[in-house]
Amino acid sequence: MIIVMRSGASSEQVEKVIDRVHSFGLRTHPIYGVTKTVIGIIGDDKTRVVEKMRGMPGVEDIIPILQPYKFAGREAHPENTVIELEGVKIGTDTVVVIAGPCAVESEEMLLETARSVRKSGAGVLRGGAYKPRTSPYSFQGLGEEALQFLARAREETGLPIITEVTDPRNVELVCRYADILQVGARNMQNFVLLTEVGKSGHPVMLKRGPSSTIKDLLLAAEYVIIEGNRDVLLCERGVTTFETYTRNTLDLSAVPVLKELSHLPVIVDPAHATGRNSLVEPMALAAVAAGADGIMVEVHPDPDAALCDGQQALALDEFERMMGKVKAIAEIVGRNL
Ligand code: PEP
Ligand code: MN
Repeated sequence: MIIVMRSGASSEQVEKVIDRVHSFGLRTHPIYGVTKTVIGIIGDDKTRVVEKMRGMPGVEDIIPILQPYKFAGREAHPENTVIELEGVKIGTDTVVVIAGPCAVESEEMLLETARSVRKSGAGVLRGGAYKPRTSPYSFQGLGEEALQFLARAREETGLPIITEVTDPRNVELVCRYADILQVGARNMQNFVLLTEVGKSGHPVMLKRGPSSTIKDLLLAAEYVIIEGNRDVLLCERGVTTFETYTRNTLDLSAVPVLKELSHLPVIVDPAHATGRNSLVEPMALAAVAAGADGIMVEVHPDPDAALCDGQQALALDEFERMMGKVKAIAEIVGRNL
């Protein structure tokens, strides 16, 4: 359920309502909007006692939330969420492009990539420090050393950093370096990790699991939000189907579906979705046309020599060319880059 406070309700009235809800043994989750405060209530079994609060000063309405994802859904939070990082906002009319190597391989290659993607118009730098690889014999990432290189790249270029955290024990460490924590597709339902990144208060990008439904994704976001962390980005990165030509199948309709159901920004990753360099640009353009708030692509100075995912990486000049087209499509659909 949610309690909608009248616009102009005093902070004292809001506090009193929250205290009353707590006295029933329920948890609250207030959302302080521009015009109104909305108090989400966690635990739905006491609907009847909460209903009795209708007459309290400042209370405008008490509404049962039908969507299973109470806080990720639009019912409780109709306005789009905007994630504000230093210098970049995600979830506005400006399409944000996240770019960088799959894995940080060295300081030099990271800095070269960062300078180049920045020049081409990227808004956020990506780079994996802890890589979730299918084989234990594949390159696993440089760990904390990679985080230090990422921090140096941010210092030099001003680009905020996104990097994956794979282990709840590393959340604190990764938070020291990253502006956005990435929870990878394989960990989308690692509920311990979701709770930890929720507690961290750091913005989180949650990638859709290869066999997860849209509802599963939104419920995973809910795990993060109920810890008090509302800065969640949702990322469509392809799902497993019977098709084998592409690495996964990009579920493009997930973009408008997620925008309908949820207020959270939606990012599309055409690289992991297709697994093929030649398909990254067309799917990136399609994602922007479909209403994505951003795209994430893998860029490498020498894709053939990449230690991870080279076959789906764009070379620096390919990324620059793609960005010109992304800008054009963004403008056609009333956005900008
Ligand atoms: C990645 O972004 O580097 C990654 C491993 O992606 P996913 O979790 O979508 O496979
Ligand atoms: Mn990758």
